[in-house]
Amino acid sequence: MKAMIKVDITIIGAGVIGLSIGRELASTADHVVIMEKEPHPGMGISSRNSEVIHAGIYYPKKSLKARLCVEGAGMLSEYCSARTIPCQSMGKVIVATESSEEKAVEKLFLKGKDNGVQGLKILGRSDLKKIEPSVSGICALHSPNTGIIDSHRLIRSLEADCLDKGASIFYNTEVLALEKSSQGFVCTAGHMSGSPYTFSSRIVINAAGLFSDRISALAGIDIDAAGYRIYPVKGEYFRVRGGKHTLVGGLVYPVPEKSLTGLGIHATKDLAGFLRLGPNAFPVDEISYDVDPSHAQVFYENARAMLPFLEPSDLVPDMAGVRPKIQKPGGSQRDFLICHEETRGLAGLFTLAGIESPGLTSCLAVGRHVAALAKEAGLVSQIR
Ligand SMILES: Cc1cc2nc3c(=O)[nH]c(=O)nc-3n(C[C@H](O)[C@H](O)[C@H](O)COP(=O)(O)OP(=O)(O)OC[C@H]3O[C@@H](n4cnc5c(N)ncnc54)[C@H](O)[C@@H]3O)c2cc1C
Repeated sequence: MKAMIKVDITIIGAGVIGLSIGRELASTADHVVIMEKEPHPGMGISSRNSEVIHAGIYYPKKSLKARLCVEGAGMLSEYCSARTIPCQSMGKVIVATESSEEKAVEKLFLKGKDNGVQGLKILGRSDLKKIEPSVSGICALHSPNTGIIDSHRLIRSLEADCLDKGASIFYNTEVLALEKSSQGFVCTAGHMSGSPYTFSSRIVINAAGLFSDRISALAGIDIDAAGYRIYPVKGEYFRVRGGKHTLVGGLVYPVPEKSLTGLGIHATKDLAGFLRLGPNAFPVDEISYDVDPSHAQVFYENARAMLPFLEPSDLVPDMAGVRPKIQKPGGSQRDFLICHEETRGLAGLFTLAGIESPGLTSCLAVGRHVAALAKEAGLVSQIR
């Protein structure tokens, strides 16, 4: 009988999270493999987002979102400089267009300061005009260090780091089954061109984004009892045409919804200087990335108070992404879920679920955090 192939660490998913974990762990073990069902890295959530490097304003104090966002933003900006990944700190304003929103701006200012965000300032109407002359608002919170990043270049750079450090990445390879064994886990994977095969892995890291709940279920976790079920929430974007992109200098956000289902339809520039509006937020049963052109009217109505120069005909469908929410529709806000499943009798399995925004900003800090958890658990002591 042929002996089963053994690896030390299997990471499921080559999005920014799986790759960031891979680059941290690749040098701590002999055989680190990353399995990705798509043909290239980052084809899921990681390449379908606003590409904003968030400062960490919105999230509850001491939450993983707040901590890893603030830490991750700093790490990412150093990383971008070192690897010449295009990024730009263009600044962001969170704009109150009605007096009823002024209190929310003050609250965000205090929350951001509490989270350790640097440089925040409340602007009155005339100071807002100095920064964004074409934006309308009665006051705003200014975050000068918020910026944007070329997420595609980031993904490629993280992939290169993993390979340089000795990890192997298997594309077109889907993890189909997971079973606990005395040595760790028996994993079954399927490649599009062959029949499924099994191998043994001492550690398994579930970084499967929108499909993390399926992986948890494969490992035998009751995803409803554990609160791991993913409730996908779609976000569409519309591009602003007609030369109006020149009317906005940076990132312009409304005061966010209380539930933080989304941050509200905002205006972001990309690195080429184009202006996009989005994302909206609505629950979906299936993952699809088409944009419904009829939603343009709602975008227009939502944004025109902040951006009075907009006309409905300026908006053309652009792209969409899907948030991997673990909060039930209408439920209260949830933090990133990052844990070692030792207490469920699944020592060696790490779950990452609900890694929605600010997951892109936080990715390097998430990688470091997971590596620290694995070291604390004594699972990767052989650091070289
Ligand atoms: C609309 C939107 C806007 C956002 N804006 C921002 C922003 O401006 N700033 C910010 O910081 N964050 C933002 N985010 C959040 C950020 O994009 C995510 O947190 C981050 O990309 C999550 O990365 P990931 O690696 O967890 O997921 P993914 O990139 O989806 O990676 C998971 C991977 O796992 C693979 N996979 C799944 N199942 C299997 C399997 N069984 N076998 C093998 N592979 C599998 C998938 O194919 C996928 O490639 C936004 C998100 C959305 C949806």
